[in-house]
This record gives sequence, C-alpha cells and structure tokens, in this order.
Amino acid sequence: MTVVEVLKQVAKETSVCTICELHHSRKNAVPGEGPSDAEILFIGEGPGFHENEQGRPFVGAAGRFLEELLENVGMSREQVYITNVVKCRPPGNRDPRPNEIEACTHNYLERQIQAINPKVIVTLGRFSMALYLPNAKISEVHGQPTRAKGRLVVPMYHPAAALHQGSLRPIVESDFAKLPELISEAADVPEYNESPQEEKQDPKQLSLF
Ligand code: URA
Repeated sequence: MTVVEVLKQVAKETSVCTICELHHSRKNAVPGEGPSDAEILFIGEGPGFHENEQGRPFVGAAGRFLEELLENVGMSREQVYITNVVKCRPPGNRDPRPNEIEACTHNYLERQIQAINPKVIVTLGRFSMALYLPNAKISEVHGQPTRAKGRLVVPMYHPAAALHQGSLRPIVESDFAKLPELISEAADVPEYNESPQEEKQDPKQLSLF
C-alpha cells in the first residue's frame, strides 16, 4: 500500500470504528489531515465540538491559534500533518481514558506515523507527550527536542492551554519559533544510530540531543 492508501484506509476504518465507547457520541471521526509526505506531524489530544461536527482536526479556537503559531514561523497548516491521540470526540471534552488511548493509538495513530514517517513529531499537550515521554512534566520538557521510540519528538504545550492561560502564550510562541531550525537539523540526522563515533562527527547533532 502507498502512504496515501494507508491514510485513506485509516480514515475509512475510523469512520466506522466501534472498538471503544467514544463511537457512541461520534458525529464524525477525525482521522487527521495533511500531506502524506509531511515533515512535521502534530499530535493533539482529541476532537472537540467543532472537529466532531466537521470531521477535521483543529478547526476551532485552538486550531486558529495553531495556524497563527505556524504562520509566525513562516509555515502553514497545509504543510504539516495534524492528527490526535484519539480520533473521536470524548463526550463533554472529558479526558480520553487509558483504554481509549491504547485502542486508538495501536489501531490508527501508529499506522499513520509509520506511513508518513515524519522527521519531527510535535506533541501538543500531555496526552500525546505521554505516548513518548510517559514520566515527563510538560513544564520541564516543553520545546526540548528529544529522541523517543527512535523518533525526534518535540513536546509542546497544547495551544488551548495558552488560550486559557495567557502567561503560556510567549512560551508556546518561542517553542514554535524553534521548529524551522529543528526541521533543517533533523534532515541532517541519519537514521537512528547509537554509534558515539557518528555523534562526534556532527556537533550539530549533539546540540539537538
Ligand atoms: N484540540 C485537540 O487536541 N485536537 C483537535 O483536533 C482540536 C482541539
């Protein structure tokens, strides 16, 4: 299957998925959207009201802020792939439950990541961060690129958190400002390789990890 076919297949499956109870209140599944060859993949938490209505990720207030953050660094949402930990809206915007996260990431998110194979994964908020850094505190690690599960992961605050708590806004903005450099540095980084020899040859790589 091509990457596009995998993504279409995942979208089709999510639209009729009944694995967890989130399907009961689903109007539209929100599998995610963006180019199949995106260099950056954003993982949010789960669809909210507007996303459930439209079947598209980040189309409400948090989405508008995400677009603004991308535009501030010369990027647009059309350039990046945007998805969520869970593809169906948790009722009343409650937190997704561990069994829902497990089912949805195992069946859908992992296939999307493997197919797109992005250079950089940006986690938005604590639920997607916990997929890679289960014990991390977002206040301590936000904006710091790290290798986790063999991938370059940048944990960031959720844009909605900055909308609720204004003091986070400049922090989120400065974390996003690092993205263009991270992408270009990630391009120089070979496939995950623990050889210390190679790390010594590339001081840029050391600055990242
Ligand atoms: N918040 C999320 O985490 N995901 C969305 O798609 C929208 C808002």
